[in-house]
Amino acid sequence: MNGCVFDSDGLRVTRVTFRLIGEHCYILTDTGSGRSAVVDPGFDGPAFADALDALEPDSVDYILLTHGHFDHIGGAALVKARFPRAKLAVHPADEDCLRDGDSSLSSFFGFPPHEPLTSDLALWDRCRLPLGAREIVTYHTPGHSPGSVVFAADSLLFTGDTLFQGTCGRTDLPGGDSRQMLASLERIAQIFEAGAYEDMTVFPGHGESTTMRAELATNYFYRRRT
Ligand SMILES: [Zn+2]
Ligand SMILES: [Zn+2]
Repeated sequence: MNGCVFDSDGLRVTRVTFRLIGEHCYILTDTGSGRSAVVDPGFDGPAFADALDALEPDSVDYILLTHGHFDHIGGAALVKARFPRAKLAVHPADEDCLRDGDSSLSSFFGFPPHEPLTSDLALWDRCRLPLGAREIVTYHTPGHSPGSVVFAADSLLFTGDTLFQGTCGRTDLPGGDSRQMLASLERIAQIFEAGAYEDMTVFPGHGESTTMRAELATNYFYRRRT
């Protein structure tokens, strides 16, 4: 389903799902200031164009990439063309993915290469990005890819291909590392189970939205925690 999936406490999240692979792009808006961040623009498409059309001119501050795989970056050039002042941000360990289809795995999966991109911002661990009156905090969570990150904005958590409902992203692709993934999942649990918010709403890169509390109770990789 494309459209608004969260609108509360001054934050709005619009989701666009790209049909071919089922990855989600999220548009996060601080409703007080009208400033937005586009998280993981996967591919171009009519629903995506409509979602961008709904935004005010020059209202996008960031294009945030949870990682550099082709299914999460393919529409970044389009967003950049529409919102030239938006800063394209990726963790330096996935920067190579922006340049060519071998690193972003589009050639691995038999997809045409995407437009080469250059980032404007390096998303180091605990990087804090202002969005209107709020902040988006980046946490480096390698495992699915070397430069995978999650983004927290108040009680919202965008987890890319690191944490999914009931499971986690695959670690058998080039650059994946299952030990790092387990450490990253544990780190996410530690940061957010005792964080400032009673619960976090989780928006993953694929599949259903969930909450941190539900994942800690039922996710295969968290059930084994003592
Ligand atoms: Zn991926
Ligand atoms: Zn993906």
